[in-house]
Amino acid sequence: MLGLTAPPQGSNRNRRRQATRYTSSMSDVRSVLCLSGHDPTGGAGVQADIEAVSAAGVHPLTVITALTVQDTGNVRELVPVAPALLHRALAVLMDDCPVHAVKIGLIGDAAQLPVIAAALRRLRVPVVCDPVLRAGGGRELAHAALRTALLEQLLPLVDVLTPNAAEARRLAPAATLADSGRQLLAAGARQALVTGGDEPGDTVENLWFAPGTAPESFRWPRLPQRFHGAGCTLAAAIAAQLALGRAPREAVVAAQAWTHGALAAARRIGGGRALPWRRP
Ligand code: PLP
Repeated sequence: MLGLTAPPQGSNRNRRRQATRYTSSMSDVRSVLCLSGHDPTGGAGVQADIEAVSAAGVHPLTVITALTVQDTGNVRELVPVAPALLHRALAVLMDDCPVHAVKIGLIGDAAQLPVIAAALRRLRVPVVCDPVLRAGGGRELAHAALRTALLEQLLPLVDVLTPNAAEARRLAPAATLADSGRQLLAAGARQALVTGGDEPGDTVENLWFAPGTAPESFRWPRLPQRFHGAGCTLAAAIAAQLALGRAPREAVVAAQAWTHGALAAARRIGGGRALPWRRP
């Protein structure tokens, strides 16, 4: 039989017993709830989350916040999911499935924030937030109302915030990037990793901000390509590590190394930027 086992035969009762046997191992499975936009190229958004979380052996639960029209170069359109639908999707999922960490990426609009904040308050698990303000191709993805709502309603519920340098400066304008990072913690984020992929130079410097310590620098050689979905990949990888029980700094160290590997193996599947290669 080519090594294949025949599918279970028999009555509904047998099939129900089989299902119970499968679910009895449910508690072994760690899951990350990903709140993300859909990117049809598969580079960013929910597909980045699914691949990065799965690569860590963790299960991705996915609730879509927005549909987009985009290619590997830039976002053309963004259509938010209605808050009431988002609420129902989250409520039904949370009633059924244990969640061990949350990753928040693109938020459709400010009206979604109260729904997301309520879910986070209910779950009380580690939260990673990648504040997606602008696409790498330049398209604005978060207008002023969303930025304000993000700072006021979401930041105080976030364990690890992962803005790139431009996002950190926009959310917390200050004289230096280090000051912006410190301000983000003062505004409520428990920790922040400010990534430097969007800064110039041969070295990419990511700065880790945690309470009571000086910012810690992680340096990576600049890779030759430009990427689409690097930020989503890193944030999802951090969330997966947190779901596995790692402490935030440990999670950030592991996720950066894994993401660097995915970027080093990136492939161009279209005419724009390269996509991180997150497959084994
Ligand atoms: N589309 C979606 C759904 C996203 O979540 C993001 C970023 O998080 C982008 C597009 C933009 O990705 P990038 O800036 O890497 O091109």
